[in-house]
Parts: sequence; C-alpha cells; structure tokens
Amino acid sequence: MSFDVENPPVEPPDECQHRLLWRLARALWEAHRPDSAGFCVVAGCWHTNQRDPCRLAQLAQDGMRTACGEATPASPPWIAVTRERLAAGDIDPVDAVAEALWHHRHTPRAGR
Ligand SMILES: [Zn+2]
Repeated sequence: MSFDVENPPVEPPDECQHRLLWRLARALWEAHRPDSAGFCVVAGCWHTNQRDPCRLAQLAQDGMRTACGEATPASPPWIAVTRERLAAGDIDPVDAVAEALWHHRHTPRAGR
C-alpha cells in the first residue's frame, strides 16, 4: 500500500484508478475516522472498543484498498455502489472518465 490506511489522503493517491470509489470510501472514513479520543468522532456512533475502527470505518478502508486495486471482501459491494453513482451521473467528469475506463477493464466478458 502506498497510502496510510489510518490516515488516507483526501485526494486519491497516484496508483488509484478508481477515483470515484476512493472519494466515496474516503467520505465514509471522514465520518468514522479516529481523533485523540477514539473513532467515529464526526458520526458519533458508539461501539464496544472505541479505540478500534467501527464496522463502517473498516468498510471505508476496504473501499480505499479496492480503489487502489486490492481485492477485499467488501470490494464487490463498493464497486456496485460506485456503478450506481456513475449511472446516476452523480460525479465529477474527470472521475467519470477514470471510472468508465476502470470498469471497462474489470467487467467480466459474457460467454466466450
Ligand atoms: Zn463509526
């Protein structure tokens, strides 16, 4: 990983080809990331050990890993959500092009 999952940059890192997914995951991280007191300061969600990332914070980290080409258990739902956003046109044009190219390469071919 070329980015710190505990402190990911707002802008997608260079190797990230899945820019929209990064932004979605990064926004989720922003709400659940830790400060000196523990996780989820912005979202205010409570979980058993506030020193550990909550489920959504972990999901956000998986999303950012997915955006950088790593396969995680949460990758398929993240990609599905990103596709919905793409279909809805709810994105920056630069990101839209990057996403379209990414999906083109990652879409499984039907049949042979
Ligand atoms: Zn949380």
